[in-house]
Amino acid sequence: MPGAVLTKAQKELKRLAFLNPAHPEFGYIRTYLDWLTDMPWQTATPNDTSITKAAKILDEDHYGLKKIKERIIEYLAVMKLREKEKKNKEEEKGTTILCFIGPPGVGKTSIGKSIARSLGRKFLRVSLGGVRDEAEIRGHRRTYVGAMPGRIIQSIKNIGVNNPVFMLDEIDKLGADFRGDPSAALLEALDPEQNNEFSDHYLEVPFDLSKVMFITTGNILDTIPPALRDRMEVIQFPGYTEDEKFHIAQQFLWKKELTANGLGKKPIQVTDGALREIIQRYTREAGVRELERMLANICRKMARKIAEGKKIKKEVSKEDVAKYLGPRKYSETLAEKKDEIGISTGLAYTQAGGDILFIEVALMPGKGNLLLTGKLGKVMQESAKAAFSYVRSRWQELKLPKDFYKDLDVHIHVPEGAISKDGPSAGAAISMALISAFTQKPTRREVGMTGEITLRGRILEIGGVKEKVLAAHRAGLKTVILPKDNKKDLEEIPQNVKRDIKFYFVSQMDEVVKVALKK
Ligand code: ADP
Repeated sequence: MPGAVLTKAQKELKRLAFLNPAHPEFGYIRTYLDWLTDMPWQTATPNDTSITKAAKILDEDHYGLKKIKERIIEYLAVMKLREKEKKNKEEEKGTTILCFIGPPGVGKTSIGKSIARSLGRKFLRVSLGGVRDEAEIRGHRRTYVGAMPGRIIQSIKNIGVNNPVFMLDEIDKLGADFRGDPSAALLEALDPEQNNEFSDHYLEVPFDLSKVMFITTGNILDTIPPALRDRMEVIQFPGYTEDEKFHIAQQFLWKKELTANGLGKKPIQVTDGALREIIQRYTREAGVRELERMLANICRKMARKIAEGKKIKKEVSKEDVAKYLGPRKYSETLAEKKDEIGISTGLAYTQAGGDILFIEVALMPGKGNLLLTGKLGKVMQESAKAAFSYVRSRWQELKLPKDFYKDLDVHIHVPEGAISKDGPSAGAAISMALISAFTQKPTRREVGMTGEITLRGRILEIGGVKEKVLAAHRAGLKTVILPKDNKKDLEEIPQNVKRDIKFYFVSQMDEVVKVALKK
């Protein structure tokens, strides 16, 4: 124990010596002393920051993610050099915190585990989702009945070393209310300037967290408290293309699931056709979680057969997939669907990564009212209103009667109704659906679009281009319309995706209409 802690512990021990064991205080002090003696004040796993080894391990465990791996290696290199400097000087400071942002199943956790493995350190993981109470991070004061240290100190005690790789999940879902602001407490734990003296309310003495390597993860960046975001180095995981998923499944997931289901010694193969079938027809996601689950499902069914003494084939072919997994979940891709009047294909950026959404417009007899449904947020509602006004103001160009909307009510709906959506980037798609409905001409389904719209019909820059384009590619769209100012973002998009999709960069709604509306 550090000197100050020892003094504190001895003082408490003295108090304990004077107390009758039947006294209620006795138990409290005893537990407190247990905590003090159990904390890994000095225990650490030996430091082993070989950069070449780390790079090798990251490659061994993960397919692709080239840029992400590079940034992590750079980060580790900086950490290593700084540690060397620290040895010379007395001052102790941690490095900045890594923050992995991306949809579920893109490998955030597993990269974290690999980092721990490559550094030879222990790994632990705590979820912050729904944490609203400051005490969950920093503990309750000892005067409180049933007081306990917070999650950070508890986890450090359980893992038994003071330098683990510590992953804090769902940092974007941290709450705050009258019980205090957990983000403030978290900041203290994460901030390298002050976390060498992290104070837990229960522990009362500071604990040095500066040797812990914190990594935070979340699905979206927007909801992370700004003060926290500033302290972190954000690395974005955009999601995988179909090809990447295929290779991940082939090289990693299949072997992993075979082993996990007791089939590790059996040389069962899965054909390329079968993998593609599963990816295309049984999953629709940015990451590979669903895919992993499907493979697990197949392995389980094979394991059962073997356990029942039945024979199984040495190979899972495309035709076998339906036998194991049942009928296709996604029987047709978007491109195979019919074009319709009053429906446009929008590209969205959600917690689950990029996604496509259909904007539906229905016209019915009425008085020119606008109805919006589909759990739209404020910004999206306003964006829909702007789109409506824009379309109304363009009646001449669209060859519509002047008061075409007077005897109509307009209903805009965005499925799926139970999922809340927000943001201005659906403006172009909403306008398109409206124009299609009013002009009674169908839109081309396989044209995905995204872009904010102004009242004058200008199309403005939006975010999440890579995620949206990957989602469009997954859904089999052939054409994507993007704002002109987003042209620069195309650089990040994998070559094979660019090959399959035709891009239009527009600055005006008229250009969108030209591409997406059927003659
Ligand atoms: P996240 O934490 O982002 O939700 P996980 O790390 O839990 O996702 O990843 C889900 C599964 O997919 C894990 O089994 C992981 O090993 C696997 N996986 C994800 N990306 C890759 C990749 N690039 N290479 C190999 N396996 C991967």
